[in-house]
Amino acid sequence: MLDLTDMQTVRALAKRHAFSFSKGLGQNFLIDPEVCPAIAEYGIPSRECGVLEIGTGFGVLTQQLALQSEQVAAVELDRRLEPILAETLRGFENVTVIWQDIMKVDPAEFLREQFGTREVCVCANLPYYITSPILMHLLESDAVFRSITVMVQKEAAERLCAKIGSRAAGAVTAAVQLRGTAELLFHVPRESFYPAPKVDSAVIRITPYAEPLCTPEMLRNVLAVVKAGFAQRRKTAVNALSGGLSLEKEQVTRALAACGCGETVRFEQLDLETLLKLTAALRDGTADSGIAP
Ligand code: SAM
Repeated sequence: MLDLTDMQTVRALAKRHAFSFSKGLGQNFLIDPEVCPAIAEYGIPSRECGVLEIGTGFGVLTQQLALQSEQVAAVELDRRLEPILAETLRGFENVTVIWQDIMKVDPAEFLREQFGTREVCVCANLPYYITSPILMHLLESDAVFRSITVMVQKEAAERLCAKIGSRAAGAVTAAVQLRGTAELLFHVPRESFYPAPKVDSAVIRITPYAEPLCTPEMLRNVLAVVKAGFAQRRKTAVNALSGGLSLEKEQVTRALAACGCGETVRFEQLDLETLLKLTAALRDGTADSGIAP
């Protein structure tokens, strides 16, 4: 197996294939020998669990995932990596690379096609320019994952694990915590990548709740509310939601009142339970979200 944490090997591969690292595609590849095995260890619960990887790069993480799981399906956008992966993943019969933009993949359909009934987890060193959209894309879909373990920029990791209702939280924080718990596993300094980015990173794991918090339909509705609300988070919730969802101000004010919130509350102050109640109240005037308090 080619050692992709060895700088000489990485430079030689890039040179032989005339490969230039694309900043635009977030191509900062891991070169720290301890990080990929740790992601595989935290992320893969058993050999039977399949792995969806997003963004292979030269395959440094893919190799470790393939050592720990019976089946890995990796989605990579940059076709220039094809001849390189042919070398670095040679002999790994349990890996399939799908040359696609992850944002154009339907996650639920992808899991059915690639993994059938096998349980699947996500492990990835995400391209930073598109971290939130990728997580939203996974969390908004009907796909069921055993867990999602991803490297993201340190600040993004902190935001994803922040308490809903605090200033640090955002729409994607709510999307994550509507589906599961998020934990920050470990920090990774910028020197662990080649080329080194200007920021530090961290690995987080999202573990879905054993019992979903709400129905898929309710989830879609609350995510629509969350996106509209966080788009104008500093405004009052009344103004953010009436503007973002094209609703009458009176309707939003009534719904907020049904959740015990006054007219001046800002959207970013609402906690998870209130977001669910508010969505129900906007839907039918009662704050019964179907969630046990
Ligand atoms: N896993 C490798 C590693 O850890 O060294 C590479 C990680 S690098 C941060 C992100 C990878 O995602 C790059 O290989 C990049 O080409 C790929 N990528 C960027 N945008 C993508 C997209 N929309 N869909 C799929 N892959 C993408």
